[in-house]
Amino acid sequence: MKKIYCDIKKCIGCRACEIACAVEHSKSKKLDEAIKERPLPIKRRKAESIEGDVPRSKFPKITEAGNLEWGIVISTGCHHCEDAPCVAACMSSAMYKDKKTGQTKHDEEKCVGCWMCIMSCPFGALSRQKQDKIIVKCDLCPDRDIPACVEACQTAALFLGTEKEFKKKLCNT
Ligand code: SF4
Ligand code: SF4
Repeated sequence: MKKIYCDIKKCIGCRACEIACAVEHSKSKKLDEAIKERPLPIKRRKAESIEGDVPRSKFPKITEAGNLEWGIVISTGCHHCEDAPCVAACMSSAMYKDKKTGQTKHDEEKCVGCWMCIMSCPFGALSRQKQDKIIVKCDLCPDRDIPACVEACQTAALFLGTEKEFKKKLCNT
């Protein structure tokens, strides 16, 4: 299936993907209006350091000497795991596999906000929407051909495609 992959050589941790994701999942789908919405729209992607508990200063910064420095960061979201731990953990069947597409999906109506899926996801891909006591996750932007995060990524670190296509892309860059 097609998923969103991140090329860690290209990700600079600018967090444009996070903002684009939150805006896409807002009511207005416009940044200036989305920031006034309550509850605030929640991002489904996270640009995070993969060096463990690294301080924010490891994200891109200009040093006193004028050089650009950053640590190793990666934009992560749901991997739509084949044998998804979140699906196994969900007792209300709110989290499920779409047999046609292979996507891991979430049914808000069935969600009881127990957060078991959050605890079971090895990638930290799920977030809480505390007001309605439900979780939110990557839905691959069903209203778009290209997910908002992929389109927003200015370094082309994010890629929508199959694993084979992503590996081919990595070999050619
Ligand atoms: S939410 Fe986490 S465990 Fe579930 S499919 Fe996505 S990455 Fe896998
Ligand atoms: S929070 Fe919702 S989706 Fe997650 S395990 Fe509980 S009921 Fe299932």
